[in-house]
Amino acid sequence: MKKNIFIGFIAIFLMHLSTSICLAEGKIKVVTTIGQITDIIKNIGGPYVEVQGLMGAGVDPHLYKASESDVRKLSNADIIFYNGLHLEAKMEEIFEKMSNRITTVALGEAVPKEMRLDSVNYPGHYDPHIWFDVAFWMMVSEKARNEMIKLDPAHQEYYHQQTASYLENLKKLHEYVQKRALELTKEQRVLVTAHDAFRYFGRAYDFEVVGLQGISTQSEAGTADVKRLADFIAERKIKAVFIESSVPERNIRAVQDAVKSRGWDVKIGGELFSDAMGNEGTFEGTYVGMVTHNMDIIVGALK
Ligand SMILES: [Zn+2]
Repeated sequence: MKKNIFIGFIAIFLMHLSTSICLAEGKIKVVTTIGQITDIIKNIGGPYVEVQGLMGAGVDPHLYKASESDVRKLSNADIIFYNGLHLEAKMEEIFEKMSNRITTVALGEAVPKEMRLDSVNYPGHYDPHIWFDVAFWMMVSEKARNEMIKLDPAHQEYYHQQTASYLENLKKLHEYVQKRALELTKEQRVLVTAHDAFRYFGRAYDFEVVGLQGISTQSEAGTADVKRLADFIAERKIKAVFIESSVPERNIRAVQDAVKSRGWDVKIGGELFSDAMGNEGTFEGTYVGMVTHNMDIIVGALK
C-alpha cells in the first residue's frame, strides 16, 4: 500500500516536472486575430511567446472565416486572444468550442460595459472598434498581460516590465492624437469613412463621425445610403472623405461622384487603417504606427 502511494507521488512529481520543463523550454503558443492584438502580445511576450496572428494587412475581420490551417493553429495554441464584442462574427462558434480545452480570451471585455457604445446594426451588441480610443487599448493591454501571467507566472516580472513600457508608448500616442485634433476647428472635425468604425475615435477626440456602411461591413451600402451621405457632405461642404484599407473603395468613390453632381468637390483624403493594420515590418504595421498614420492623414486632409 505504502509503495503504491509512493509511486503515485513520483508520477505526480514527474508530471509537474514535465509541464514546467515544457513551459521553460518551449515558447507559449499564442494565436491572435486582428493585428492590433498581435502587436500587444508580441510586445508583452517578447522571447517567451510564439505569436501567430490570423488576420494580416487588408483583411476584414467582420467577414473573416477560419481556414483549415487556422483551425489547426487554434487547436495547437496554449492561449487564444481575440477582440470579441461580435467583431470576428464568423469565428465566434469556433472560439466557443475551443474554450472547453484552451484558454480563450475576448480582450474587448476589458472595457467596462458602461463605457462601450451600442451597435447600431446589431441590437443587443456593442460597437467592437474599441482600439480607436487609445485609452481603451491600454485597458486591453493590461488584461492581456494579466492573462499571460496566469498562464506563465514564471516570467511575470518580464511581462510586467514590457507592459509598462508599452503602456508608456500608448499614453504618448493618446496625447499625440489629442494634440493633433486641436489643430482643426470644431467645424473641421468631421470624419466621413467607408464603414462606421470610428465612433470611439469620435467620442474620445471630439470628431463628428459618419460612416457609409454600418458598424459591420456585412451589410452592403445601398443607393439610399450614398444619397444621404452625399447630401450631408455637399450641405456641410466637407473637404475630404476617407477610404479604409480593409474595405473596398468603390462605395466611397460612388459618394464622391454623387457629391460632384450636387455641385461640390470632395476629395479622397487618403487611406486609413481601420480594422486591419498596415504591412508587417512597416511603421503602419504596428498599433502606434497605424494610429499615428491615421491622425496625420485626417488632420492633413481636413485642415
Ligand atoms: Zn469594422
